[in-house]
Amino acid sequence: MADSGADPRRRIPRTDVLLAEPRLAKAVDELGRSLVRRAVTEAQQRAREGRIAPEAVADEAVSLLPATASSLREVLNATGVLVHTNLGRAPLSPAAVRAVSVAAGGTDVEFDLATGRRARRGQGALAALAEALPEAGGVDGVHVVNNNAAALLLCALVLAPGKEIVISRGELVEIGDSFRIPDLVTSAGARLREVGTTNRTHLADYADAIGPDTGFVLKVHPSNFHLSGFTSEVPVARLADLGVPVVADIGSGLLRAHPRLPDEPDAASALADGAAMVTASGDKLLGGPQAGLLFGRPELVRRLRRHPAARALRVDKLTLAALEATLRGPTPPVRRFLDTDPKTLRARAERLARALRRHGVDAVAVATTAAVGGGGAPGVDLPSAGVSLPESYARRLRTGEPAVVGRVEQGRCLLDLLAVAPEADGRLVEAVRRCTS
Ligand SMILES: *Cc1c(COP(=O)(O)O)cnc(C)c1O
Repeated sequence: MADSGADPRRRIPRTDVLLAEPRLAKAVDELGRSLVRRAVTEAQQRAREGRIAPEAVADEAVSLLPATASSLREVLNATGVLVHTNLGRAPLSPAAVRAVSVAAGGTDVEFDLATGRRARRGQGALAALAEALPEAGGVDGVHVVNNNAAALLLCALVLAPGKEIVISRGELVEIGDSFRIPDLVTSAGARLREVGTTNRTHLADYADAIGPDTGFVLKVHPSNFHLSGFTSEVPVARLADLGVPVVADIGSGLLRAHPRLPDEPDAASALADGAAMVTASGDKLLGGPQAGLLFGRPELVRRLRRHPAARALRVDKLTLAALEATLRGPTPPVRRFLDTDPKTLRARAERLARALRRHGVDAVAVATTAAVGGGGAPGVDLPSAGVSLPESYARRLRTGEPAVVGRVEQGRCLLDLLAVAPEADGRLVEAVRRCTS
């Protein structure tokens, strides 16, 4: 070469030249200048360190560009945990994603286009919720807040300020990351009145504790642990006879009973049993966006809506759009996954393993055991299937694009298919293949 001996670092393209390169210029429009500049700087640095040739800097910068301007990355959930809180819980249905995308611009969230006047915020989502659960008695019997924790907080603020919330010692639940339901409701200015013992609580324990200071009885579904042995709890139907409001936190958001999850409480049954208010999450088994769903007596719902804190807990237009589309649209992914026949999963696993072996990957189809997770159906094993790979794949898959998160079991990296959409199988194979070359 003519300039052999010259310092190759002098051939590293300058930043302004790189930013004018067509692919990178387009990325500036899509991602903003600072993210593209960061990729360019990193690529130049790699060339300076001799890790890539100066001629490869533009390509390297392109490969370093993030997929979006947010640091949140796409993850294929191959953990076998259907509702994984650390991975964003329920994936939205394509119908919900489209609704979010439309509502992201200007939208009639609180406006009547026919009359040109202000309208009730999110009435479409409230109507969909009321129709999905007729037992709630129409739109006046439903309300939506930021999450289930917010729903409980609002109940405590409205129904028990300066009063007592009666709760069984068997239901003093920590919901995750050291957040505890008892601390949550007492932060609203209510006092906790614990009754019974960890394993057994009787109707008489509640009856003895109830008096003029009682705000409500709180029934919490122990959604992330399973108590067995010498146990007893009091069902909502019996508590409802005590003459004080019963708030039932059912957790996972099943609107009605599901045959695969016989012990999971549902909103329709809790209302039929006489709960004054039912609270649930929108992003667990309902399969929608993060939200707190409230179903209850219209006069109580009205008081919840009017409390000053309701404004601080209200959901945004994106949530309302996603929730309505989840309720009105096609079956959301979480529900499809839950209803998948294990035989279908096994056939997918075999197909994926075969495809990977053709690429020289040590892949084996295996039977697995999946779980609902995320505070739902504790102790319920969901028969599933997956692909077993050498353990070394786990880290490379996690840091790939899209990221794939499996679980490591007995020295193998297991990709469980229960919570992976069948439409993503091709991308899963590609992701594994890229870790191989
Ligand atoms: C998950 C869960 C919560 C918390 O719900 P968020 O929507 O995450 O606030 C509260 N109670 C129960 C029983 C749960 O399962």
